[in-house]
Amino acid sequence: MKEFNITLIPGDGIGPEIVNEAVRVLDKAGQKFDYKLKYTKILMGGCSIDEYGVPLTDEAVAIAKSSDAVLLGAVGGNVGNSRWYDVAPNLRPEAGLLKIRKELELFANLRPAYLYDELKDACPLKKEIIGDGFDMMIMRELTGGLYFGERHTEEVDGVVTATDVLTYNENEIRRIAIKAFEIAMKRRKNVISVDKANVLDSSRLWRKIVKEVAADYPEVTYTDMLVDNCAMQLVMNPGQFDVVLTENMFGDILSDEASMITGSIGMLSSASLGTTKLGLYEPSHGSAPDIAGKNIANPIATILSAAMMLRYSLDLDEAADAIETAVAKVLKDGYRTTDIMSDGMKLVGTREMGDMIIERI
Ligand code: NAD
Repeated sequence: MKEFNITLIPGDGIGPEIVNEAVRVLDKAGQKFDYKLKYTKILMGGCSIDEYGVPLTDEAVAIAKSSDAVLLGAVGGNVGNSRWYDVAPNLRPEAGLLKIRKELELFANLRPAYLYDELKDACPLKKEIIGDGFDMMIMRELTGGLYFGERHTEEVDGVVTATDVLTYNENEIRRIAIKAFEIAMKRRKNVISVDKANVLDSSRLWRKIVKEVAADYPEVTYTDMLVDNCAMQLVMNPGQFDVVLTENMFGDILSDEASMITGSIGMLSSASLGTTKLGLYEPSHGSAPDIAGKNIANPIATILSAAMMLRYSLDLDEAADAIETAVAKVLKDGYRTTDIMSDGMKLVGTREMGDMIIERI
């Protein structure tokens, strides 16, 4: 039997409730697909501030680093109305997130945008455009580009002027391009690389390096697309996308656009990967303090993040498929949490949603 060490970060708000359901689902899949996960819990966010005075201790980071994968709920309290925010920015809950991403050297962010047939009504696009639905993976570079470049504001000839520098080197581009092609090999073998090569030097280098990497993956179809065109294509013909590979700022914007066309925040999973197999898996939503402790949060985004963990860090693709199929079946059978509830469906809580998914694995 295969065994793996998983670091669990329940975090704050609804975090503990949704992570708990993901663990129950993972364990059920483990019985069926013959693997065992050993969990070590660490504190991060507000709960760590309460216990240790900092959002993430070095000891907690060391535990995460020595594990095979990290599964996170969410961190943070009610912004503006919580004891965790009257402190320096590096001591706030979200600083824990930045620290763990940096310490684990996670440079690739993956956000799937998948439209379930049963949730088509929540999609803001017209039926003719939705067609048979869509299933794409937005892959965003996470540690380079404009957000990490030099920046300053100064007065130039009496005019206040702000500057942000966008830099990418060939190594940063190559490592994420390799990840994108590897991920495409586990999917429908299609990569669209998004840039602004008609204007930016950094995009020209991006295009050159991605093309070089593509040559090593002859089975994968690869095309380039300009970012402005991609923004339009996402709402005109979302079905054409499989893996969308792009740099930090373009990815920030396009991943939000792609997630909005799926219609529901409680369903959106994500993963952050580095050069090794160790990755961080978390729902795209926050800690939802408004609904914490009420057993009404939708655990599906976290459960789907756990499925990504099985696929990308542990190479347990069959178990990942089984979880994803079980989620689709639960929706087909009409069970909904409040955030995705519609007429004629059966309302269930966090725990019951976990039970329904477990029953179908
Ligand atoms: P949020 O995503 O927590 O909540 C936005 C809205 O969506 C709320 O009405 C909430 O009830 C609802 N919602 C979110 N997840 C849901 C789920 N699984 N099921 C049902 N409803 C759900 O965003 P916010 O309110 O802006 O932020 C709350 C806290 O979360 C803040 O402290 C913020 O900094 C933090 N945050 C953390 C992360 C993270 O840990 N990665 C990400 C985003 C926000």
